[in-house]
Amino acid sequence: MPTHSFSPAPYRESFHSKLLESMAVGYALQEAILDEQGRPRDFRYLEVNAAFEQILGLPREQALGRTVLEVFPKTEQHWMNIFSRVAMGGAPERAEHFGISLGRYFEVTASSPEPGLVAVMFADITARKKAEKKVKQAMTVFNNTMEAILIADSNHNIIEVNPAYTGITGYTRDEVLGRHYRFHQSGLHDESFYRELWHSLKEYGHWQGEIRNRRKSGEIYPAWENISVVRDATGKITNYIAVIADISKLKEAEAQLSHLAHHDSLTGLFNRFVFTSGLEQALERAGRHQQKVALLFLDLDRFKLINDTLGHGVGDELLCTIAQRLKEAVRSEDLIARLGGDEFTIILEEISHPEDVASLARKLIDTISAPMRLHEHHVVTSTSIGISIFPDDADNASELARLADSAMYRAKLRGRNTFEFYTSKLTDDARDRLSLECHLRRALEFDELLLYYQPQLDLTTGKLCGMEALLRWQHPKLGLLSPDQFIRIAEESGLIDSIGDWVIKRVCEQAATWRDAYHSKLRIAVNVSTRELMYNHTLDAIQRSMRERGLGVDDVHFELEITEGVLQSGDEVITALKELSALGVGVAIDDFGTGYSSLNRLKDLPVDILKLDRTFMAGLPGDAGNRAITRAVIALGHGLGLRVIAEGVENRKQLRFLRECGCDEAQGFLFSRPLPAAKAARYLAQ
Ligand code: C2E
Ligand code: MG
Ligand code: MG
Repeated sequence: MPTHSFSPAPYRESFHSKLLESMAVGYALQEAILDEQGRPRDFRYLEVNAAFEQILGLPREQALGRTVLEVFPKTEQHWMNIFSRVAMGGAPERAEHFGISLGRYFEVTASSPEPGLVAVMFADITARKKAEKKVKQAMTVFNNTMEAILIADSNHNIIEVNPAYTGITGYTRDEVLGRHYRFHQSGLHDESFYRELWHSLKEYGHWQGEIRNRRKSGEIYPAWENISVVRDATGKITNYIAVIADISKLKEAEAQLSHLAHHDSLTGLFNRFVFTSGLEQALERAGRHQQKVALLFLDLDRFKLINDTLGHGVGDELLCTIAQRLKEAVRSEDLIARLGGDEFTIILEEISHPEDVASLARKLIDTISAPMRLHEHHVVTSTSIGISIFPDDADNASELARLADSAMYRAKLRGRNTFEFYTSKLTDDARDRLSLECHLRRALEFDELLLYYQPQLDLTTGKLCGMEALLRWQHPKLGLLSPDQFIRIAEESGLIDSIGDWVIKRVCEQAATWRDAYHSKLRIAVNVSTRELMYNHTLDAIQRSMRERGLGVDDVHFELEITEGVLQSGDEVITALKELSALGVGVAIDDFGTGYSSLNRLKDLPVDILKLDRTFMAGLPGDAGNRAITRAVIALGHGLGLRVIAEGVENRKQLRFLRECGCDEAQGFLFSRPLPAAKAARYLAQ
């Protein structure tokens, strides 16, 4: 068998030989052994380097002089073909190879420095192959996961997003690449939210939480977001990776579940569960702030009859209608629940007067008894209401509920379509009030109202300087009533308008009588409520009444007494006051010091007199607090160029102190109680 041999000598000595020996890449020079047809059938190792020995784990003595097939009998034909082609003058070739016995990947390059010779270089690429495989797996995840993945650079600019990102946000990859990560924020989170997020990223390299993002369509959606910081070997931040799960569907389902758990499926009102916990919470709040809570139990009257005669469909619709009416009748913060059947409850917090609860109960009874049309039927129903009050009746939720329920049964016994407080005195009070309101309507008609007058004295001269008109009601059964017993009802029922008109008319009549009798100009103070001023009632009434009685500005000086609250009210009232002032009508701030005055407003308004409230007279001059307030109000009034009158002066000590402080005027039992017009006239005569 003819063989060729090439001398390796020139290579060994050369610089290149040293170079090959020192390389990290495996190297072997192989000489082709030809068969009869002149084609290479095997290759003999002429040279190998240190890396060859190291990578293949084969000492060079075992290779040199032997052939490839002798050393590696399992060498695939594929490799022999490559070596052959190259040895026969073919171009250099490169291929990757997985060495099964070694369990590693190699990249092999074969080239021919001279015909018949093959130089083989091979590098271990196992690590790279593994990394590539990992990247490939990662890319599969990246491209196929349901979560949006976003990769940003260290400046928070987006450098890559996955297909799910497009699906969730509606933005295409091209639309977002290069943009700042911030651009899809919803703007719904405050600064502290982001401060915490960045703190967590900085401190722990990671943040996760619920966040609201904005889709391209503008829609805001809830997302669960996982942000991680990627750092290089030196610890410098290279990337941020955000994994964003759209949890809007989850949230919807959650909300639906929670709605089901908390609401009555028929009416959409809260259910018993929410009622119970809501009541407990309300009582806890009220206990903390020392407030009252009212619990109303409503039970429809004869609901069973409607159900039985008109069918359950009508019954259901009726319940829905009632639910709607209840919702419209109460404040949005009041909790209404349906406990089942035809039983409803309402929790009212922060109530100031049981009367307010009574008037709401009356309103509820009225709205519920309004006729309704259901499935071609005209249906009228009514309700009985039981009311218990925390903490007066009970200090815990279950007891309060029991008492409201028992009050409701009492309402049924009383003939239905009515309400009962658990404490029957409150029911009586509410009924009294109701009847008072009915009677007050007729009081004007039956001429039961009258005016008393209380003199006001000038403290410098000691002479009478004015009269305050004070309203009285001569009730046929209850006797003479003072305004505190009926003004509030008058205001709430709207009767105050006609009562106010009547007062002014009556005062004008009186002023005309006194003018004719005493020929001196008198100041008469008239109390008006905010409501009257608001509708410009007083202005018209004064003009009209003065005209009717032939009174001019030289005959009488009207002084309207308003409370501090008016200063706080809207512009209509302020305008009304200015118009009145232009007409020569004076304005006094009544009960000054008990409300919340905006001093700023005070200085811009046409006010003439401050009436120091009578509560400050208590204990004067001994009481240090009242002494200081009295002095301060007088100084304030004088500073603003106003006169100051002290109300409720009952003894000489108070009077002396007021004189010392420079108070301008005084009024009180010390001088005179409010008197009927005929008696008051005696002061005018003096
Ligand atoms: P007010 O305007 O502060 O009236 C003074 C109240 O103090 C009067 O009560 C008067 O009788 C009482 N008073 C006077 N001097 C003394 C005193 O030395 N000691 C004590 N303890 N009390 C004294 P009255 O007449 O019961 O009026 C109560 C409130 O009703 C008035 O307070 C006023 O705000 C309102 N009012 C009276 N008349 C009318 C009216 O015609 N219309 C309106 N809207 N409210 C009125
Ligand atoms: Mg007054
Ligand atoms: Mg007063």
